[in-house]
Amino acid sequence: MKLSKYHLTTDVLDDVDMPNKRIIFSTRSGISFLLDEPIYQNLLINEFSNIEEETIESFKSCELLVDADEDEYLKILTENRETTEDVNVLSMTIQPSANCQLGCHYCGQKHTKDYAKDDIIELYLKRIIHFLDNDTKYTGLNIIWYGGEPLTGLSSIRSASSKFTELCESRGLNYSATMVTNGLSLKPKLFEELVSKHNVKHFQITLDATAESHDTRRVTKDGRKPTFDLIVKNIKDITATDFYNSNDAHISIRINIDKTNHHLVDDFIDFIKDQGLGQKVSLTFAPIVDWGGNDAGKDGLSNQMFADKEIEWMLRCFENNIKINKLLPKRTFYACMVERKDSEVYDAFGNIYTCWEFPYTDTYAEGNSLIGNLKDDYSTFNPNPTLRDWTNVLDSGTTWCKTCLHLPVCGGACPKSWHEGTPACPSFKYNFKDKLLLDYYIRQKNLEKV
Ligand code: SF4
Ligand code: SF4
Repeated sequence: MKLSKYHLTTDVLDDVDMPNKRIIFSTRSGISFLLDEPIYQNLLINEFSNIEEETIESFKSCELLVDADEDEYLKILTENRETTEDVNVLSMTIQPSANCQLGCHYCGQKHTKDYAKDDIIELYLKRIIHFLDNDTKYTGLNIIWYGGEPLTGLSSIRSASSKFTELCESRGLNYSATMVTNGLSLKPKLFEELVSKHNVKHFQITLDATAESHDTRRVTKDGRKPTFDLIVKNIKDITATDFYNSNDAHISIRINIDKTNHHLVDDFIDFIKDQGLGQKVSLTFAPIVDWGGNDAGKDGLSNQMFADKEIEWMLRCFENNIKINKLLPKRTFYACMVERKDSEVYDAFGNIYTCWEFPYTDTYAEGNSLIGNLKDDYSTFNPNPTLRDWTNVLDSGTTWCKTCLHLPVCGGACPKSWHEGTPACPSFKYNFKDKLLLDYYIRQKNLEKV
């Protein structure tokens, strides 16, 4: 037996009234423990005789202790490959509209008034049937509706979604969907239709902190009109309905953050609390990065600064009883959709890509980023489009991931960022010590409530 190299720890927690203790986190399982320092020191020298058998068994089950001769990197890579192959939900991203009402400066897309017509919708269906027919492993189909603004292609969503629902019913498959929307046209009635008829279970809506910041960037193309109040009204109207509160559909709010608005995030958190939304929606903090080579990340916070601020925001949410999306990462077997050969992105014209940030951009819409077009014979499709070989890139050691202790819970984060020469490391790499501590406090608090 040996201590897995894939672990992270806090410092000794003397400063926070936990003398001679530290928290250890296994990135092979995503599980953390509070440890006595002498035990940790024994683990470091692979001296296990002083550790109770029950504790040893817990460490083994969460892969903190592994076979002494195990090549851990190889084991992780093999698990990743096998698990990715075995995923039994077919997942596709559809960008049914090339249009969006907003003209956000950081958006890398070129919008037009095109949307998926009936012939293209039939081709989405045909391609999905092709995948389902080629492998009996599938038990479900998941669609991510993305844009442009997907709701500007509402008629396409309605039509495609009915076809997918019918297909899944006829084959005994589960059907579910999620949507990334700007929230401008998401009124309660439409929300109810999307949830109950089209099985959209999760909505991500972006609000770039308070109106002061949001309304300088998420403005309409047509006249640069503000949108904050409209979107907030929609969210409040939806979350006030009995329907929202009795269904398992959920809204999360993404806040895009850079140097120009990070100072407004605290006010935004307070706003969410004051509006009574703290337990109705959840918040995600996201750094602004380049999109389609548009240099949008030029005003970004440094990774360390973002991570430091993120912990403060998370703490503020915790203190104000506001939901946040995941604190600690889980074991992840693939970076994202680009690594899954059966996961594709379709635009309104039938073009097929690996990554949802490719369609409608100047840099990626054509060339090797394109798998093909649904109108063409499948045999003509590009077998090695940009990003699909991420597993090999990772294994080649050209990024930092091969030797990174975060690999099992990260997978390399965003292959597109690495492809563009920007390390993609998530904030957890920079603030894991604080996050482990915060997670511990939250769990203790929850235990006290029971
Ligand atoms: S490569 Fe990056 S941007 Fe593209 S789908 Fe994956 S995580 Fe998203
Ligand atoms: S993206 Fe960064 S944190 Fe994630 S595995 Fe690669 S080097 Fe590690």
